[in-house]
Amino acid sequence: MPTTTGAIPAVVSDARKVFDSGATRSRAARAAALRALRAMITENQPAFEAALWSDLHKGAGEAQLTEISVVLAEINHTLRHLRRWTRPRRGPVPMALWPARARLVSEPLGVVLVIAPWNYPMQLLLDPLAGILAAGNTAVLKPSELAPETSALITRLVPAYFPDGIVRVVEGGVEETTELLAQRFDHIVFTGSGAVGRIVMRAAAEHLTPVTLELGGKSPAWFDDDAHLDQAARRLVWAKFTNAGQTCVAPDYVLTTPDRIPALVEALRRAIEDLWGSDPRASGDYGRIVNERQFDRLVSLLDGTDVVVGGDHDRAERYIAPTVVVAEGRAVGPEAAHPVLREEIFGPILPVVAVEHADQAIDVINNWDKPLALYVFSSSARTRRLFEERTSSGAVVHDAGLIHVAATGLPFGGVGASGIGAYHGTYSWRTFSHLKPVLRKPLALDTLRLAQPPFTGLGPRL
Ligand code: NAD
Repeated sequence: MPTTTGAIPAVVSDARKVFDSGATRSRAARAAALRALRAMITENQPAFEAALWSDLHKGAGEAQLTEISVVLAEINHTLRHLRRWTRPRRGPVPMALWPARARLVSEPLGVVLVIAPWNYPMQLLLDPLAGILAAGNTAVLKPSELAPETSALITRLVPAYFPDGIVRVVEGGVEETTELLAQRFDHIVFTGSGAVGRIVMRAAAEHLTPVTLELGGKSPAWFDDDAHLDQAARRLVWAKFTNAGQTCVAPDYVLTTPDRIPALVEALRRAIEDLWGSDPRASGDYGRIVNERQFDRLVSLLDGTDVVVGGDHDRAERYIAPTVVVAEGRAVGPEAAHPVLREEIFGPILPVVAVEHADQAIDVINNWDKPLALYVFSSSARTRRLFEERTSSGAVVHDAGLIHVAATGLPFGGVGASGIGAYHGTYSWRTFSHLKPVLRKPLALDTLRLAQPPFTGLGPRL
């Protein structure tokens, strides 16, 4: 149920009162909040699985792998490192300022807003929360209205596990988010489209609120590994068709040479069958499109393409089979001939695009916005290095897809149009803390007198 817009300012000011009370600052309080978050998940796993099934037809295995266990790993990693991260550190002081001592103290920012999308409605809301709580902040969560069961579940659970009001939830869509964005926050984490990311950043600018924007785009894959064709194809289709392709870091399209296309297409067909059987519709492990609007958009993307695997769809079930198309024309980006090469696909359609060689693939990638992820399937170290050095993307993964999201110790985020800032593990904690230098220069020895006028002779150099 959407929160009434009139109630939203009080939700935020109440979160600020809790923050101002100092209740979240101590390390013990931070650890307790993280443990409450962990209990909220572990004690309600069947309810989370049911909500994700209802919203996205996400099977229990996939829900565990891509949502529940990712958040639990993040919380456990954070709890393990909390003492080390929060310990004040000595800071260096130049000789010119001696005698003096400096410490680096990490202080919480205040009230942090998290706005999440529908595709991983649990992970993308609760993963940033671990870092927010570790840094000693309070939080306001805005789940996606397009994953209503997950949104309702989190809205029901949060007050039970955070009775002290450290975490609060506002439910709703555009109207409620607009009202939320009119409030003052100390940081905003937004995951979603670039179009709404711009709205969020504009609203944040009014209060000079820093933002972390986790956006999307067309993440490319390069394939030239003939020796490991079947393994590569299996990893590619897993990365692409998990959650029915509705993954921000899913490979959007594959670049390869024309001579490799027939074998690759056959390998992709075999891999799809390996993972979801000959009728993926009947598989309990294959998802559905989130709503009819997205379904219609995706089906229209198939118009005028050469479908070589899958292609069947059923609006009543919002089912689209894992589909491979061979796309005409080498342009990918704003001037591409076909919308499947112009728009972020965000669904189970994988175009295979022919280029002459790796250098041309790099030109295709560099022709447009910097992607969130780049996947390279090549047994040549030279080729792998070429892609690393001559392209820019949120992350590069060789010989696999998606797995960097689960690497808690690595920063997760985009670059350029695919996002601003990064989080996960220590990078979350840094993002949601202010690193404050605290200096003390004892008055007993008045060496600062040398830096004060009247200056005589050459004067001091600081
Ligand atoms: P979206 O931008 O439509 O919505 C995201 C959130 O913004 C939702 O909570 C929604 O309620 C809110 N919102 C929507 N319109 C708004 C408006 N006009 N004003 C204020 N708030 C508004 O995104 P989506 O459709 O939920 O998700 C798909 C997009 O998210 C894709 O582009 C995908 O690549 C991206 N994504 C990125 C990541 C990442 O980690 N980088 C992860 C998942 C999805």
